[in-house]
Amino acid sequence: MKPVIGITTDIDGDRKHQLNTNYVTAITRAGGLPFILPIGVEGDAKQIAHMLDGIILTGGGDIDPTLFDEEPHALLGEVTPTRDALEIKIAKEMLQVNKPILGICRGLQILNVALGGAVIQDIHSQCENTILQHSQKAPRSHTSHFVQVEKASILESITETPTIKVNSFHHQAVKDVPEPLKISGTASDDIIEAVESTAHDFVVGVQWHPEALAEYGEAVSLRLFNTFVEKCKESRS
Ligand code: MN
Repeated sequence: MKPVIGITTDIDGDRKHQLNTNYVTAITRAGGLPFILPIGVEGDAKQIAHMLDGIILTGGGDIDPTLFDEEPHALLGEVTPTRDALEIKIAKEMLQVNKPILGICRGLQILNVALGGAVIQDIHSQCENTILQHSQKAPRSHTSHFVQVEKASILESITETPTIKVNSFHHQAVKDVPEPLKISGTASDDIIEAVESTAHDFVVGVQWHPEALAEYGEAVSLRLFNTFVEKCKESRS
C-alpha cells in the first residue's frame, strides 16, 4: 500500500479550491498517494491525522498576523483565515502523533505559527539588512539564491552539500523558531530558509518551492520528496 499524503489547498474569492498540480505530481512520482484536503474540515483534524501517513502544508498567501499577536502591517498581503485555521489544527494533530510534515513556503510559516512562532509580515520593509530578491522575477524552474545548510541536519542529509541554490517566491519569512524546531537553512541576508523538528521523525519546512523544481528533475528536490514519502511509508508500518 502506498502512503497516503494529505495536501492542503487554497481557496479563492469565488470560493474555488486551488492547488498547483506540481505538489500532486511530486508526491505521485515519489511513490505516494496524494489526498487533497478541502478547507473547512478542521473539526475533524484528529480523524484526518489518523487517516494520513504524512502531510504537505503548501504554499500560498499571507498568514493572519493576529495569530501571533501582531497588528496587520501595511504591506501584509491577502490572508485566508479559513485556511490558517485548518492548517494550524492539522499541523498540531500531525505533530502530536509524530507523522511526517513537509512545509513548503507558506507551509513552513504556518508550521512555525502552529508551534507558537511568528512571521515577518514583509521582509523587504521590516528587515534592516539588505534583503535579497526573495520574490524572484525569474521563472519557477530557476534557482535564484543560495541557502547555507546546517551541518548534521535532516536537510543536509538530503542536499548532501553545505550550499544549495533555490527558487524564491516569498515576501514573508519566519521571525523566530520555537522549540522543537531548529534552523536548518539560511540565506546570505539571514532570512531563515529552512527549519526542522528535533523532536519528530520528519518535520521539515523549506521556504522555497521544491515541487516546482522537481518537475524539471532537480536532484535535491527529488531527494526531498523521495525522503519525505519514504518517511511517510515508515510511519504507516
Ligand atoms: Mn528566499
